[in-house]
Amino acid sequence: MQRFRAPAEMKAYCLSVRNEGSKIGFVPTMGALHEGHLSLVRASKAACDKTVVSIFVNPLQFGPDEDLESYPRRTERDCSLLEAAGAHAVFLPTSADIYGTNQQTRVVVHEITRDLCGANRAGHFEGVTTVVLKLLNIVQPQAAFFGEKDYQQLRTIERMVHDLFLPVRITGCPIIREPDGLALSSRNQYLSASDRQRALAISRSLYDAQEQVRAGERNVSKILGRSIPILQGQVDSIDYLEIRDAKTLDAIREITTPAVILAAAFVSNTRLIDNMPLNP
Ligand code: AMP
Repeated sequence: MQRFRAPAEMKAYCLSVRNEGSKIGFVPTMGALHEGHLSLVRASKAACDKTVVSIFVNPLQFGPDEDLESYPRRTERDCSLLEAAGAHAVFLPTSADIYGTNQQTRVVVHEITRDLCGANRAGHFEGVTTVVLKLLNIVQPQAAFFGEKDYQQLRTIERMVHDLFLPVRITGCPIIREPDGLALSSRNQYLSASDRQRALAISRSLYDAQEQVRAGERNVSKILGRSIPILQGQVDSIDYLEIRDAKTLDAIREITTPAVILAAAFVSNTRLIDNMPLNP
């Protein structure tokens, strides 16, 4: 597995790969890799000839009170995991490599980023779309792989790619969970044993909503009326628990087409997100 730090070198490698006629799959990450990330690498390897992974803790997507400084950084361990998973190249830029000293450009996707995580994380999605467009322009992959774990992020990136005619196919990959239901996240490392136990209420409340829909319930208020109490009392605060249209993320009252239930909650100081499909 080759390592690159400078964008120009990463770009040159990708250009030579494309000139050989090979198809590049790209997996952007912030590192502290787990099976969720590695599932994206496997999906890329299954669909493409060469897989490029980036590890970049993107300062632009963190708010001033968020965990940029403490975000886990495990570069050597991550590289061993990627090598074992069969990634062909890893891109490890610094913040200066990506943003230089006079960054004047931002990419904004408007409506779909307004609610949910966008409501309480000002500038977050702008940071995500700006860095993802930069990374896509460096790697120029034919395909890029994102987890459904960050559901609003995935839909936002799809929107950006559509709106800007970007020549890349975006593939969403299913959430990887612990056997007890907890969605894998680099932030799970922050949780104490008792926090982790309480965090299970998040996936439990989502599974309960799925069960209600399976049993025939279609009314969003009724479903949430049973799911919210499962979360309350376990997590320390609920940022949101909402049911939205699966594609547009518009608010809905009844589930008549594919929908998704999305949650964000704090357990101690750790903000966790999760979601599950609700199919009528
Ligand atoms: P992150 O390093 O948190 O920015 O995540 C990098 C990519 O991995 C994103 O596309 C995430 O959606 C994806 N990802 C994170 N956790 C999981 C998970 N548990 N299952 C599947 N994909 C995930």
